[in-house]
Amino acid sequence: MTSVHPTLSLVIPIYNEAETIPELYQRVKAVLDRLEQPTEVILIDDGSHDHSLKLIRDLHQSDQRFCYLSFARNFGHQVAVTAGLNFARGEAVVLLDADLQDPPELIPAMIELWQQGYEVVYGQRTHRHKENWLKRFTAYGFYRVLRYLAEVEIPTDTGDFCLMDRRVVKVLNAMPERERYIRGLRAWVGFRQTAIPFEREPRFAGEVKYTLRKSLRLAINSIIAFSRVPLRLSTYLGLFAAGLALLMIILVLYWRLFEPNSHLTGYAIIAIAIFFLGAVQLLCIGILGEYIGRIYEEVKGRPLYTLREVAGFDPAPPNPNL
Ligand code: UDP
Ligand code: MG
Repeated sequence: MTSVHPTLSLVIPIYNEAETIPELYQRVKAVLDRLEQPTEVILIDDGSHDHSLKLIRDLHQSDQRFCYLSFARNFGHQVAVTAGLNFARGEAVVLLDADLQDPPELIPAMIELWQQGYEVVYGQRTHRHKENWLKRFTAYGFYRVLRYLAEVEIPTDTGDFCLMDRRVVKVLNAMPERERYIRGLRAWVGFRQTAIPFEREPRFAGEVKYTLRKSLRLAINSIIAFSRVPLRLSTYLGLFAAGLALLMIILVLYWRLFEPNSHLTGYAIIAIAIFFLGAVQLLCIGILGEYIGRIYEEVKGRPLYTLREVAGFDPAPPNPNL
């Protein structure tokens, strides 16, 4: 039986990972068996379509340290992690991916740093094995742009793989926002944080579950959630357009004075100006829309996720989403 108050919780989101679950179990179990701390493992089935949920149920039956939540549909990785944090009971919580790209063998080292007094220990990728150049390049660029734009310092090349102290988890759980970019929120919280370098292995089996669309969404969300620079962009573009207009006035004056017969260039300038200003305005409205859309989402106040099945939490933790 799990003790009522495990010291450590592992939170693992799962979306169509039937191929990796047996191996995941073996590797996590090997680590758990070596740990002194009583540990619970929370598997979150994010509305999988394959037989992941069945495997998870069997796991729970055979090993009581494994508990699980099952969403009523796919809500996405960040929400799955959030649900895990809501349910975790440990004094420290470790987040890791199910595809074994985050090596569970690193957990003892994380615990050691936690015991030394760090409230957040996050994995920092030194190497990405076998990920294609496009992903590596975009990830590299994205983290640096985010670092430049964001109002809090979000460490580069970190994923969600980390250990967090209960105090940090409490703050995260108290954050009502819907668009959750966990690694950003984690940086925002503060406390003593430290990195632990690791080499990111290729995923153990199956396809990447983060489609291009989901990755793009996460990237846009993270920038909007942590920066107001895009909102200021309209001011900069406005200034730029004003500068151009001034230039055109000078040009037109020049033509009037020195080349009074030239008409065509004047029309061209007008056409360009119309398109340019149209583009600037649409772009700025689009950016405003991104922020307003998020305000709308927050105001609706819907629960973050819906649960179809919960097992292994006895007594069940108080949860507003149940
Ligand atoms: N995942 C999820 N819901 C989703 C997409 C992914 O719970 O909608 C899980 C997935 O099962 C894995 C983790 O999130 O455990 C990371 O996904 P993936 O490995 O596909 O993305 P990566 O970060 O490696 O690109
Ligand atoms: Mg992965």
